[in-house]
Amino acid sequence: MNLGVFNTKGLKLKNILIGNEIDRLANLVDYKIVDTDFDSRFDNLVEMASAHFGVPIALVSLVDADRQWFKAMAGLDMRQTPRSHSFCAHAIMRPDEVMVVEDARTDPRFRDNPLVNAYPDFCFYAGAPIVTESGAALGTVCVIDRVPRSFSPADRAMLTRFAASALSLLELHRRLELQRDVASLDPLTGLLNRHGLETALDRVISPTLSGEGCGLLYLDLDHFKVVNDNFGHAIGDRLLEEMARRLLGAVRHGDLVSRFGGDEFVILLAHPVDATALELVAQRLLGTCRAPVAIHGHAIKVGITIGGALAPRDAITQSDLVHAAYGAMRSAKRAGCGRLGIAGNDNLQPPHANSSRPEIALSDAIDRDELFLEWQSCQDIATGAISGYEALVRWRHPDLGILAPDRFVPLAEACGLSARLDAWVMVRACAEAAACRGDYYFSVNISAQWIANRNVVSMTRAALEQSGLDPRRLVLEITETTAIGDEACAIAHIRQLKAMGVRMALDDFGTGYSALVCLQTYPFDMLKLDRKFVAAVDADARGRLVGEGVVKLANLLGTEVVAEGIETRAQAEALHAIGCRRGQGFLWARAQCAPWLESLQANAGAGQ
Ligand code: C2E
Ligand code: MG
Ligand code: MG
Repeated sequence: MNLGVFNTKGLKLKNILIGNEIDRLANLVDYKIVDTDFDSRFDNLVEMASAHFGVPIALVSLVDADRQWFKAMAGLDMRQTPRSHSFCAHAIMRPDEVMVVEDARTDPRFRDNPLVNAYPDFCFYAGAPIVTESGAALGTVCVIDRVPRSFSPADRAMLTRFAASALSLLELHRRLELQRDVASLDPLTGLLNRHGLETALDRVISPTLSGEGCGLLYLDLDHFKVVNDNFGHAIGDRLLEEMARRLLGAVRHGDLVSRFGGDEFVILLAHPVDATALELVAQRLLGTCRAPVAIHGHAIKVGITIGGALAPRDAITQSDLVHAAYGAMRSAKRAGCGRLGIAGNDNLQPPHANSSRPEIALSDAIDRDELFLEWQSCQDIATGAISGYEALVRWRHPDLGILAPDRFVPLAEACGLSARLDAWVMVRACAEAAACRGDYYFSVNISAQWIANRNVVSMTRAALEQSGLDPRRLVLEITETTAIGDEACAIAHIRQLKAMGVRMALDDFGTGYSALVCLQTYPFDMLKLDRKFVAAVDADARGRLVGEGVVKLANLLGTEVVAEGIETRAQAEALHAIGCRRGQGFLWARAQCAPWLESLQANAGAGQ
C-alpha cells in the first residue's frame, strides 16, 4: 500500500500510522458504503456545497486502500481515482483540520498531479475530513475550482459542517444495512433465515439459464420433536445450534446455509454443480449429522433426511426449486429417515414407463435435447417481402415421432413445466435469431402463465445478453387464456420488457380467449389475428366488416396487425383490402428449421 507520507527514518511512527490506517480502513468497510449505488441524500449534500461555495465541483470522497471513491459528485463525471492522485488522502492525515490548497499548480505536492495538469484541471481545493466518533477519517467533503481561490475561516467552519452532515448520512446508511442484515438472519443460529436465502436464490437462479447449474438441499432433522418433548426447548435450541455449526463446516466457502424454520435447513450450492456433486455434498452432510451431540451430559442422536434438486434441471424458478427439493425430502422421509432423495429420480425408469407419466417424459425431453424450433416467416402482404419470423417449438419424440406444440404445450402448462419449456424456447430462439444477419424481428410464444412469473424479465434479459440479440428485434407473443394469473404482475412485467425494447404481441385474436378487453388491459404492440378470424374475413361481407373494424381499432391504438394462417391469394387480398399490412401462412411458407442457419452451415461446408 502506498501511503506516500513516510520517510525511512520514522519506522516507529510508520508502524503506528500503519496501525491507524488498518483501523481506518476497517472502519470504512464497516460502513458498507464503498461501491454502493448513487443516493439522492448524498447527491443533495454535494449540490448544496457546490452552490453554497460557488464552486463547479463538490465531492463526498472516501479514501480506500488504493483509490479514492466518490459516493457523490457534483460537476465531475469520475467515480474514482487512484489514491496516489487523491488530494483527500492528504486531507485525512489531519482529521481535525480543513485542508486548503489555494493554487495546486504552484504547490509542490500537487503540481505534477494528473488531476491538476490535465482534465479535470483541479486548481483550488478545500477538504474537510469526515471523522467517525472513534476518530477515523474516512474521507472528505471537498470543494474544488479550476481557478485559484482563498477560503475564509467562516468557509472552513461551514465545510466542516458539511462533513458532519456527510457522517450522519453514513451512519444512517450503516443502520439501514444492519437492519437489512438482521432481517435476513436467524437469531438462534446466526444462519440466513428463509427470507435471506430466498433473496440469495433470486440472485443466483437467473444466471443458471446459461447452463451453470446451482443445487439446493432441503434438510429436515429426524425426531426433533422427541428431543424437544423429552429434554426441553433449551436443549432443542442447543441441538439446532450444533447442527448449524456442523452444516457450515461441511460445505464449501460460498455455499449458503440457512435455517428455513423449525428444524428445517436449506443449503444453496451456488457454485456450478451437477447431480454427482449434489449427491456427494448431501452424503457428507448425512454423515456429519449422524454423530451424537453431547449437550449437558446427554448424548443426543438425531439424524437428518435430505432432499436435493438442481436448477435448471428440476426447476428454473426459486420457489419451484425449493418445492422440488422439499418434495424429494418428503419422499425420502416416507421411505425411512436418514436418507437422501433427489428430485426426479423416479424418472430412472425404462423409457416405455414414461408414456404413463407424460410430464416426466416432457421434462426428460428438455434435458435430452429432443425439442427443437422451426421458424415461420411473416411477410408484407402486398409485396411478399419477409419482415420477421416466429419460432414454433416441436418435440422429436423417440416413439411417437415429431409432435406439434398443441400435443405438449397444454401438458406443460397443466403440470407446471411451462416456465421451463418457455425458458428453453426463449434461450434457444434468441441464440438462433442472433445468428441471422437479415434485418428481421423474431417472435417467441410464451405461455400466459409465464408472463406473471417474477423471473420472466430477468430470464428474458439473460437470454438476450447471452445471445447478443438486440432486444428491439424480439417480440413476445402471448395468448390470453383464463390463466394469465396476477394481472398487476403481468402488466408490470410487460412494461419492464417494453422498457428494455422488447415488443409484445397478443396472439390468436378472435379465438374467444384473446378478446378486446385484453387490448384495453395490456399495452400490446402487435395483434395477431387468428386464422379462424382470417377465414371469416374472406367468407362474407359481415366477416369483412368485423375484420375492418378490428384493424381500424388496432390502428387507432397504434397496434400493428398481423394476420395468421393465410392459405389463399383471395384471403390475402381480402385482408389487404381491409387495411391489414402483414401476414403469415402457408400461402408463403410453412415453418422450417432456421433457414439462415442452414445457409450458414452450407457456406461453412462449401468453405472446407
Ligand atoms: P400460433 O402462435 O398461433 O402459431 C401459429 C400456428 O399456426 C402454428 O402451428 C403454425 O404452423 C400454424 N400455421 C401457420 N400458417 C398456417 C396456415 O396457413 N394454415 C394452417 N392451417 N396453419 C398454419 P403450430 O406450430 O402447431 O403451433 C400451434 C400453437 O402452439 C401456436 O400457435 C402457439 O400458440 C403454440 N406454440 C408454438 N410454439 C410454442 C412455444 O414455443 N411456446 C409456447 N408456449 N407455445 C407455442
Ligand atoms: Mg404465435
Ligand atoms: Mg396464433
